[in-house]
Order: sequence, then structure tokens, then C-alpha cells
Amino acid sequence: MKIQNESVTEDLLIFDAHCDTANALLEPSFNFIKRKQGHVDMEKIGKGGLKAQIFALWVNPVYSPYRSIKKALLLYHILEKKVFFPGYGIKVTSTTEMSSAMRTNKLACWLSLEGGHIIENSIEILEFFYSIGIRSMTLTHSKNTDWADSSGESPRWDGLNALGRKIVTQMEKLGMVIDVSHASDNTIEDVLDVTSVPFMASHSNARALCDIPRNLPDDLIKEIAGRKGYIGVNFFPVFLNKNIFDQVSKNVEKYKNEHQEIIQGREENPDLVNKAEWALFRKYVRGADRVDMNAVIDHIVHIADIGGTDCVGLGSDFDGINSTPSDLTDVSCYPALVEGLALRGFKAKEIRKIMGLNLFHFLKQFDH
Ligand SMILES: [Zn+2]
Repeated sequence: MKIQNESVTEDLLIFDAHCDTANALLEPSFNFIKRKQGHVDMEKIGKGGLKAQIFALWVNPVYSPYRSIKKALLLYHILEKKVFFPGYGIKVTSTTEMSSAMRTNKLACWLSLEGGHIIENSIEILEFFYSIGIRSMTLTHSKNTDWADSSGESPRWDGLNALGRKIVTQMEKLGMVIDVSHASDNTIEDVLDVTSVPFMASHSNARALCDIPRNLPDDLIKEIAGRKGYIGVNFFPVFLNKNIFDQVSKNVEKYKNEHQEIIQGREENPDLVNKAEWALFRKYVRGADRVDMNAVIDHIVHIADIGGTDCVGLGSDFDGINSTPSDLTDVSCYPALVEGLALRGFKAKEIRKIMGLNLFHFLKQFDH
């Protein structure tokens, strides 16, 4: 059955809160125009109608403690060189700039830091990144930092320590969006205590549907929504479905041994460790079961049920994940997702919110 959604797709703002394409662009053969594999390039953007994107500068925690800033700047540089300079996209730092970029038919590109370790425990470096146009930062990646706990490890601080509280306070003052994806529940609760601004989980799912620490429990979904925050649903099957997560966890045990063998004696070379980890991630972090976009829609429905339809949207994690739902394989599939949402009973107005308006309105609160 083909749904008539012209009223929805016409002038639809498709705006996604998280992709790792900057890392993919470090590959010399990829120029952002077109490639066989991968999720985000100009050809696929043209087909799917993506209008705006938050690009993460993801730095593997193995670059911590002293080599993260350089890596983040290299990612920034590659976006400038391959996306902004040739004119495919425009770097934006406010919704006003975003709207004017879109009026010229350019991809509006927001920048974020993925991993609080990137600022190397320095408020000044945080301010520097803000000054070059970075408008959000995840407090952690999958490892605890010196000031915040991640959902990926056992707690070191039970949330934020004194430096962590100082950092989130400074983010609040700067108007830099606090992103709690990857953070532990206690870290998120501390953000709620210490700050009073809206914040986001740019690429996180609902724990009620897939019970893993990386996903958000209902009470935190409610708190984030209550603060006019934003939750972007992640398309990674491992975070959508607990069976797949369990299958993958078994594979990771094999990965650990192989990882040790590869890096043995070369632990001091973060480029090598990073490359080895990505290769192993691609090889092992896959489950046997397949999911389709209905798994993504289930999480959207649940988060909307708990937090309301104004808090939920896209947080694909494209180019940072090695498997996708079978019918949501890259950014060219967004029109199919619109159809899927309509089939699930969402009204045109709600679909517009989920596909991009909620994220736009969330970020508008930070314009000054
Ligand atoms: Zn991530």
C-alpha cells in the first residue's frame, strides 16, 4: 500500500542529531560525493532529502589523555576541506544560520564533540571549541572520563565529580548543548541537579524496549522531555533489540582477545589502536537477527508515549554503526521512514516534528 504523503514530504525538514561521517571522511578515497558503502554522501542526501545534520567529531577515548584535541581538530579540518569548502554544506551555529543555509539549498551542518575527554579536563579548551563553532558535547563516550561516568563502564564517580559539575555549569553559561548520550544514569541525574537548561540525548533509545545501560529509562525520558529537551532515536540494531545486543556481547569476547594480539606492545600508538578497534567493531559487532524500521518506530512511539511527541526525533548514528535496519540502510531511506510513521498512525503534523522540527525547536532555545 502506498501512502499519499505529498503534504508531508513537500518542504519537509529532515534533520538528524548524530552522524559519524567526519571520521569516514578521513578516508582519502571518500570525497563526500558518492560511495558504495557508508550512510551519508551527497548522492544519498539528494535521494533522501536530508536538509540538516549534526556532525559529531568523535574521538576514540584511546587518544586520551593528551592526543584528543589534535584528533578533533583533524576531524574539523576534514569537514571544512571536503564538505564546507566545496560548497556541499555550510557550518551553522544557530537556527537563524541554519534556515539561511537551507534557503540556498545547502546542507546545514552543526558540529558537536563526541566524548568529554576531548577537552582534556580544561574549561579553556571547552571555550575554544565553542568559539570555533562547536555547539554541543557528549559528556562521555563509552569510557568514564576524569569527571563523568559513562554507561559503558562501572562507575568511577557515581555521576559527575566536582570538575564535571564545573564543566556542565560552564556549558550552560556558554549556551553549549549538554548531550547525555553514552552517559550513565547517575551522570544524567547530576546534570538535572546542577543545571536548569534543556539538554539532549542526541542518539539514545528506550530502555523499556531494549534493556541495556546505553538506553534511557522512562523516568529520565520524562525528565528530559519535561525540560524541553530532545531525544534522537538511534538506528543501531544492537541498541534497538536486546536479542541482538546479547548476540553481539558474545562476539565481543572474541574481539577482546584479537584486540590484545593486535595492539600488543603498541598501546602507545592511538592511531593504530583506533584503526584496529574500528576494524574489529565492523567485523564482530553484528547480530544474527535482522530488524527493520519498525524497531526504530517502536522506540519513537515509546519515547513519544512517555515524554510527548515534542521531545523525540532522529539520532541515526549513521556512519558510526556497522549495521542498520534492513530498510533504513542510509540517508536515502528517510522518505520510507516517513511512510512507515504514517502507516503507524502518526499524523502529518507529528511526522514533521519527529523528522526534524522537534530538533530545530530544541536548538532554537540556544540562539542568542
Ligand atoms: Zn555515539
